[in-house]
Amino acid sequence: MQTLKYLAGYPDSLLAQVRELIDGDRLGPMLASRYAGSHAVRNDGQLYDYVQDMKSRHLRKSVPLGKVLYDGKLQVVKHALGTHTAISRVHGGQLKASREVRIASVFRDAPEPFLRMIVVHELAHLRHLEHDKAFYQLCVNMAPDYHQLEFDTRLWLTHREMGGDGKSTAPEG
Ligand SMILES: [Zn+2]
Repeated sequence: MQTLKYLAGYPDSLLAQVRELIDGDRLGPMLASRYAGSHAVRNDGQLYDYVQDMKSRHLRKSVPLGKVLYDGKLQVVKHALGTHTAISRVHGGQLKASREVRIASVFRDAPEPFLRMIVVHELAHLRHLEHDKAFYQLCVNMAPDYHQLEFDTRLWLTHREMGGDGKSTAPEG
């Protein structure tokens, strides 16, 4: 049985359901039906505006933003999302220190809600280093459906890595 590396830390019962979807070739269609279309945040300048806009709506009093960029070398699990476990954490430290927001390039071609999720995640790290309760509370303040979006993003990354194109197959765009 293959490891679902993007979903490490989630309960076995949930992973069993995911495996069922994968085995039945239903994961891609399910994602496509829920997340259609792409977004217009194509380059680092547009990404900066997108992040700044979100920040000024939710974290006005926080430190000013530094550089914002799509990073093609960022490994999503190791550096962007971290492993989904309650206490452990590893990434984010440098980002906080430098106030940079690096978004893995894979999100350039993701549905907009997934980009929103990862931006919210990185903005929350401007205030909280760890993936602790306060961190996720802030994420939810910025995006009420944060937990669902993070899970679905992990599903999308899983699907994509298994050869799905990860993009919407909805009829028109
Ligand atoms: Zn994180």
